[in-house]
Amino acid sequence: MEKYYLIMDIGMTKTTCALFSEDGTPKDDYFLVVPSKTKEGAEAVYANTCGALHSVMDHFNVDREQILGIGVGAPGPLDVERGVIIDSPMMGVHEFPLADRLKKDFGMPVRMDNDGNLGAMAEQRLGEGKSLPNVLYMTVSTGCGGGAVLNGRVFRGSHDSAAEFGHISIDPEGDRCPCGNRGCLELLASGTGMRTLMRRDIAAGKKSKAFEAIGYDPEKVEGKYLTEAAAEGDEYALDFYRREGRFLGRALATFFNCFDPDVFVLGGGVTKAKAYFHDEMMRELSERAIRKVDPEQVKYSVMNDRVVAYGAYLLIKEYLEQG
Ligand SMILES: [Zn+2]
Repeated sequence: MEKYYLIMDIGMTKTTCALFSEDGTPKDDYFLVVPSKTKEGAEAVYANTCGALHSVMDHFNVDREQILGIGVGAPGPLDVERGVIIDSPMMGVHEFPLADRLKKDFGMPVRMDNDGNLGAMAEQRLGEGKSLPNVLYMTVSTGCGGGAVLNGRVFRGSHDSAAEFGHISIDPEGDRCPCGNRGCLELLASGTGMRTLMRRDIAAGKKSKAFEAIGYDPEKVEGKYLTEAAAEGDEYALDFYRREGRFLGRALATFFNCFDPDVFVLGGGVTKAKAYFHDEMMRELSERAIRKVDPEQVKYSVMNDRVVAYGAYLLIKEYLEQG
């Protein structure tokens, strides 16, 4: 009887589920993606999560005896040992014992970690930082999550809150962030942050093809319209992405100064527009970093949308193997 790991990545917007074989291959390359229902509260997110796991088991017609365990990636901050989502304001979740609930409902071992740590782990074991000892990872997506593998091990800090790269302040006088800080990278450079800045620009009367596409309706701003406008040479869109590059480069300089990693891997939906911000990001990084950064030290995730799923596989597998 073949054995599998059940894998899930609960994101702010989407939840991804898959079945991984023991050697780390996603079965049939099948990834079920469903909306996360984060606006409906913790119980709705949980019911949705369980529904997706059952759908994947049904899809492959596998029963519980064939599943070795469940690996879960979720937005932090988390208590990894207790398997609790401590506080995720964007998800409307507070002190939620996700791992215990899954353990009880599915009757199998469950391991959970935050999406940033899992991304870093997957990149260091299998991806762009393969076999290198010091690998940092950041997703620039709905939010900006981070993770660090240092000397080959995931560095979680003393309270599971290390590598919160999205909450470094890059504008000290900027808007207040829910974390308490001001002008956080996440507020400015994430997909959510970009939409906020675009809405302000519409209100300020700025003109762009990115806004023409949506009739200047601030509710409809989207990164994809900005990228399309940039591809057509729209000045506003090109400027916007150059500033995005400066935000990211400023943050990267701090991370390189603090950790001196072998590589820094960037992932997330926003990086799909890298052609429009990469050069400015690297210029800003090299201007601000203490030690000269080789361009090869900054990479983009190839696993990207699936990197957390691979990390969740590694997490549960290594946990069960090591006891
Ligand atoms: Zn913050």
